[in-house]
Amino acid sequence: MKAPTPIVMDVNQHAALPFPQSLPEFQRLFPDDMACAAYLEKLRWQDGFVCPHCRETGVPFHIATRPGVLTCRKCRRQTGLTVGTVMERSHTPLSTWFWAAYLVASQTPGMSAVQFQRQLGIARYETAFQILHKLRAGMVRPDQDRIGGRTKEHVEVDESWIGGRTRGEGRGVHHKVLVACAVEVRHRKPGTAQDKRRDGRYAGRVRLAVVSDRSGKSLGGFVDGAVVPGTLIVTDDWSGYAGLRKRGYDHHAIAECGDPEVADEFLPIIHLVFANLKTWLIGIHHGVSAQHLQAYLNEFTFRFNRRFYPFNAFRSLVGIAGGVRAPTYDELYSGDWEHPTCSSCVP
Ligand SMILES: [Zn+2]
Repeated sequence: MKAPTPIVMDVNQHAALPFPQSLPEFQRLFPDDMACAAYLEKLRWQDGFVCPHCRETGVPFHIATRPGVLTCRKCRRQTGLTVGTVMERSHTPLSTWFWAAYLVASQTPGMSAVQFQRQLGIARYETAFQILHKLRAGMVRPDQDRIGGRTKEHVEVDESWIGGRTRGEGRGVHHKVLVACAVEVRHRKPGTAQDKRRDGRYAGRVRLAVVSDRSGKSLGGFVDGAVVPGTLIVTDDWSGYAGLRKRGYDHHAIAECGDPEVADEFLPIIHLVFANLKTWLIGIHHGVSAQHLQAYLNEFTFRFNRRFYPFNAFRSLVGIAGGVRAPTYDELYSGDWEHPTCSSCVP
């Protein structure tokens, strides 16, 4: 017997699907649950529906009262459109999920659960909170590959203390969390309007992780997981980065990085990323507890890496099963596929 083909919902491969470029377009394209269901069906079966039970390829029956369900013409068994996505088993209408994913993807600074509840007109705060967290969980998965690895492009790496209010306990780092960052440095084409700012340098993809301390083991471990070996890495001259060559990287350490002018000259992009991150965390979520910080770092990373492509973000959120590892056919229909959830965040 032939092994079943996994369903891969990498929506970026579906260039033929129309995509809204504005809010009015979004409303025209997704006016109700049926429209969302039709979109999802096209997303999953580009070449037309294939029944997972009997492999029949005929157009399935659609039930007006249950837009999320397709019924096979031949074997009459049902297939759920949202199986394997963050929307599975949710009682929230598809159109609400689409609207939610659109808001999460297109609102650059992100949104609190209260704002979200109001915008979507959801009666219960807990429902809004859960939708938001499921979409956020979806932001974790597509970005696990390592950055760097391109010739003529280097990666800046640095670490910074994030968050934490000292609440009258004096100065220090009591409640702060150490975060390591790696960011690709790209160059604009000479002669373009923006090539004069920062010598035409700008940020490519970013990786962020909570690390336990500033030791070579912690920082080196972070770099191992975040950056492709062989990449040129630029850091300050902190001893924690001294072992990068042994780990297989080309390493350039900048001395005197305590001097802001030197830091700005040689590590400008990563300082911008940290500044943006801190502003985002404070402005939107009024500071974040250490326990939840990694989830927010993942959300920031997801947004940052798609900041030029907000609609790719939307499509990733809706079709998230195609992120890194799509559930296999068997997993999808035997119920063994588990969604990523943020267990510590469930209210
Ligand atoms: Zn069938």
